[in-house]
Amino acid sequence: MADLRAQFAAIEREVRHAIDEVLKTQTFILGPQLQAFEREMASYSGSRRAIGVASGTDALALALRASGVGSGDEVIVPAFTFLATAGAVILAGARPVFADSEPETLNIDPVSAKSLITRRTKAIIAVHLYGGSADIRSLLEFTAFQGIALIEDNAQSLGASLEGKKLGSFGTCAATSFYPSKNLGAYGDAGMILTDSEEIAQRIERLRNHGQTGRYVSAEPGWNSRLDEIQAAVLRVKLRYLDRWIAARQAHAARYNERFDGVHGIKMPAATPNSVHSYYLYTVRIASAGANPASRRDHVATHLASRGIATSIFYPLPIHLQPAYASLGGKTGQLPVAERAAHEVLSLPLYPEMSTEQIDRVAASVIEAI
Ligand SMILES: *Cc1c(COP(=O)(O)O)cnc(C)c1O
Repeated sequence: MADLRAQFAAIEREVRHAIDEVLKTQTFILGPQLQAFEREMASYSGSRRAIGVASGTDALALALRASGVGSGDEVIVPAFTFLATAGAVILAGARPVFADSEPETLNIDPVSAKSLITRRTKAIIAVHLYGGSADIRSLLEFTAFQGIALIEDNAQSLGASLEGKKLGSFGTCAATSFYPSKNLGAYGDAGMILTDSEEIAQRIERLRNHGQTGRYVSAEPGWNSRLDEIQAAVLRVKLRYLDRWIAARQAHAARYNERFDGVHGIKMPAATPNSVHSYYLYTVRIASAGANPASRRDHVATHLASRGIATSIFYPLPIHLQPAYASLGGKTGQLPVAERAAHEVLSLPLYPEMSTEQIDRVAASVIEAI
């Protein structure tokens, strides 16, 4: 699916030098590397502030906490996303309420989300799935009026944009992840919150450090969620390459699209109008006609595996049907678009260092299987 070794080979000297500099200073937590990385990320993302934390999951939980979400509150999230989106709501002490997906982009359906609003709704999390923009404009139309925080889960969409503005800069705040396989990946876990609100930024700076306002004086209970100096140094090196890597992903996606154009039975990724996709994943949909709604998709995956080609399913089970959330009463048939997507999606190998020959070989194998 990805080859991180190829990327490391291209930047090894710079990364080793950056890590060496941290080792010389022996400053590992809340130091100059993080400060510089936060400034550089704010500038890259078009947000006033960027606050580094321990993971993307923590970034979501802290974004919720700092937006005033707490116990007894409801947060509307898409059912068709990674587990962390819902887990973060639980971490913030609130209850996730699951919305269906929009049938083309598979992002949260604003109509479904709006229908789930109650007096307890404090926030909506919009995930920009696979790197493609959610329908932020429609979501802002009703969240802004009703005092509901709109939080962008930007973990897969760093570098993507809508109407010329970076994703992550539309909502109350955004959370992103530097999990190693993400478009900008650390050499371990790391995450970040982006926001224009100085108040939210300052609150997260406290929360990530036990709520401390001064040395050993805490204004509110927090926890330990900091992005360490070694990860910050690695990420600063990689940030300088990010736009080139995303451009390569986009070129590869365009090549896949060209190969699949006119092939019956395969649906290519859709993008929201006026948006630029960052292609964290290149995900096609393959529908089945018979009794098993995943049979054709699974057949393609098996065929590719027999050719030594990896594929992945993001995600095989929507969150409202996960055992972990059974107590919330989710039922099969409740969110038909999300449930159908889980049977149809297949992500193909995609990483910047891939060659055109590799893309063509994957595409030919998919077409052969279909
Ligand atoms: C990766 C990811 C996260 C969580 O990030 P971690 O850094 O692994 O905690 C959250 N949401 C989405 C959509 C993701 O893809």
